[in-house]
Amino acid sequence: MAEKKKMIPHRFPMPKQTPEERIFNFEEVALGFTPKLAMQEAERCLDCKKPQCIDGCPVEINIPGFIMKIREGDFGGAARILKEKNALPAVCGRVCPQEEQCEKHCIMGKKMEPVAIGRLERFASDWESSQGKIEMPDIAPPTGKKVAVVGAGPAGITVASDLAVLGHKVEIFEALHAPGGVLIYGIPEFRLPKAIVQREVEYVQSLGVDLHLDFVVGKTRSIESFLKQFDAIFVASGAGLPWFLEIPGENLNGVYSANEYLTRLNLMKGYRFPEYDTPIKRPHKVTVTGGGNIAMDSARTAIRLGADEVHIVYRRSRSELPARLEEVENAEEEGVIFDFLTLPVRMIGNDQGWLTGMECLKMELGEPDSSGRRRPVPIENSNFILETDASVCSIGNSPNPLIPQTTEGLEIGRKGNIVADEETGKTSLDRVWAGGDVVTGAATVIMAMGAGRKAARSMQEYLSG
Ligand SMILES: Cc1cc2nc3c(=O)[nH]c(=O)nc-3n(C[C@H](O)[C@H](O)[C@H](O)COP(=O)(O)OP(=O)(O)OC[C@H]3O[C@@H](n4cnc5c(N)ncnc54)[C@H](O)[C@@H]3O)c2cc1C
Ligand code: SF4
Repeated sequence: MAEKKKMIPHRFPMPKQTPEERIFNFEEVALGFTPKLAMQEAERCLDCKKPQCIDGCPVEINIPGFIMKIREGDFGGAARILKEKNALPAVCGRVCPQEEQCEKHCIMGKKMEPVAIGRLERFASDWESSQGKIEMPDIAPPTGKKVAVVGAGPAGITVASDLAVLGHKVEIFEALHAPGGVLIYGIPEFRLPKAIVQREVEYVQSLGVDLHLDFVVGKTRSIESFLKQFDAIFVASGAGLPWFLEIPGENLNGVYSANEYLTRLNLMKGYRFPEYDTPIKRPHKVTVTGGGNIAMDSARTAIRLGADEVHIVYRRSRSELPARLEEVENAEEEGVIFDFLTLPVRMIGNDQGWLTGMECLKMELGEPDSSGRRRPVPIENSNFILETDASVCSIGNSPNPLIPQTTEGLEIGRKGNIVADEETGKTSLDRVWAGGDVVTGAATVIMAMGAGRKAARSMQEYLSG
């Protein structure tokens, strides 16, 4: 009789830099599984006949398939399976909210801890690149069709790689001096090293995709003029327009949007001033308003810059924090102080126009609002002043307005987003598709990639028709 498989209830922990060492450097916090740990974790997978984990993956990776390869020690085989569906496995293995997606659906999670699918994805992809040779997919013969992709973030990169493999000539146009979108300008090095993004972008280029940097579509060239040169266009210009609190004093020196703060520090290496000539104030007491991943990234960046005290100011309670739990815990371990049920109402400055403090109100939770979460309600006369010499606003972003504003005939939604069909990515303009944050508003890497995949299918139907 076959021996019954012994269930291992807990996932194997991710080796990490200790909080004491990591607050002094910008190196990656999570160090990745060793081959032994990866094989042990892969043992936990039940190789289900109806694997529900796949239902939770927006790009439909064959999850049990790649995990079984790891279990057998065939790490290259695992990487190959991942790449069938995902052009950015090392990125997704690091930043995807797996706990809300594949891992949430994992059968093991019903009674025990779900299989650590994200950690295994990261392992397989890192292992492949550590071998120095990346396997290439078969590329179809040239079709003679030309496609323009606006924006080199996860949505644009996915469309570009899917269509390049099908033999189309793809050119990506990117406004910034580096490709990767938020992966490069937003998510800090200690969570997603730039070299990983670069490695995955290079893979897409090796499929024959041309990349034009410092090219602002809508200014350098319009969508209308692209339509004369290309057979199809995919717009993936993201949601990089920051929201502000719209309270008095927000124009004081020392008040940043999270986008500006993170871009200056991470992409433009502000933390290595004067070696890199991007100045950044080195404050003593930093306040970050918001509770998402971007707020955690900003606060943890401030800690590494040497701030004496970093506060996250959030108007709801801990259980409503939208950030990934792992990132909240990392921030807590690194000494970030959380001020829950607190709302900034005014920024206060000195005679020279520099920020010195933030007036806040205490809140309590009332009835649930349209989001289903209990609405925060101000407590009268609870005002107090939080001393701060730098404040980072991280309460959300809207879609980039340039293409919507400069493209006649493109239907725009109420929130400034491009309106596109959910299943195909088709917009109101013939031969123009769109996807990712510019359509949905700020979302996730894998959602943007999922939108890219669906649009690529629809574009292929058109291009091969
Ligand atoms: C700090 C931060 C942390 C995050 N953390 C996570 C996380 O942990 N997990 C997760 O899943 N998601 C996270 N996200 C969200 C995620 O990164 C985005 O949802 C995702 O990157 C959206 O992909 P995209 O391709 O639609 O847009 P983007 O990544 O924004 O890429 C759009 C690209 O288009 C370019 N562009 C814009 N306008 C033009 C133009 N006119 N011409 C040419 N190029 C243009 C931009 O420069 C940019 O490179 C985070 C976001 C931020 C800001
Ligand atoms: S649901 Fe969980 S246990 Fe089942 S195949 Fe997927 S990862 Fe493995």
